[in-house]
Amino acid sequence: MKKIMVVIISIFIALLAYLVLLFIEKPDYIHLNFVQRIVTSEIAAKFDEKLNNIPKDRRTIVDYDTLIDCLNFYEKNFVRRIFSINPKELGFKGPLYSVAKPYDLVEVPSVKVGYRQTGIQFCPEHSYKDYLSMADQMQKDLGRKLYIDSGYRSPGRQAYLFFHYLATSSKYSLIENAKWIAMPGYSQHGDPTDNAIDFCSRDGINGFSDNQTSADFIRLPEYKWMLENAGKFNFYLSYPVDNKWGVGFEPWHWHWEKK
Ligand SMILES: [Zn+2]
Repeated sequence: MKKIMVVIISIFIALLAYLVLLFIEKPDYIHLNFVQRIVTSEIAAKFDEKLNNIPKDRRTIVDYDTLIDCLNFYEKNFVRRIFSINPKELGFKGPLYSVAKPYDLVEVPSVKVGYRQTGIQFCPEHSYKDYLSMADQMQKDLGRKLYIDSGYRSPGRQAYLFFHYLATSSKYSLIENAKWIAMPGYSQHGDPTDNAIDFCSRDGINGFSDNQTSADFIRLPEYKWMLENAGKFNFYLSYPVDNKWGVGFEPWHWHWEKK
């Protein structure tokens, strides 16, 4: 009888310690505690499994509520707790966009650029129409045009990426992770109306893959054309040099906006 009591009390104390470490102790932004690390790994693994059951082409638009539904009560609460941290406290400087769902998402076919494919992308229809008109005009003027390398990415996708990298390359450091991955709502690619598009040339120049730098993109005649003409089609460079957000210069990243 005594033994049973000891076991029960031990389990109770362990559970209490688990809950305190998970929910009471404020996450240290540089090193999550060991319980938070274990839970982070579990969440990342469950998100991975969930995404693997979704067709590859639709993983970029996974719905946040659908994604988070694969977690248990404690994990869901932990995710909420992490995403309630103001990213500014983690050194992330970009603005909050939106977590609302787009009402007019359309599928953009995969295109061959250089030796690779862009993969199927998605865009809100209103911005995609303007992109098509812009690409037509660019083709007429230059004999070449830009392609959609990365379009809409849902807040669910950002949540998946955030936990995936937190448990892997960022080694459970929220500050390290926030340098590379925007939290749900903080990526312009997830904005349902004024959404961002990353462009690339027909040779696959996008300024960031395969050891490319932004200088490679700036050299493109398409980039120069965009600076002069994109505004006529409601596209604007989001992060110019020395932008007010303190975000690095991204010459490939443009957003739709009705001014
Ligand atoms: Zn982008």
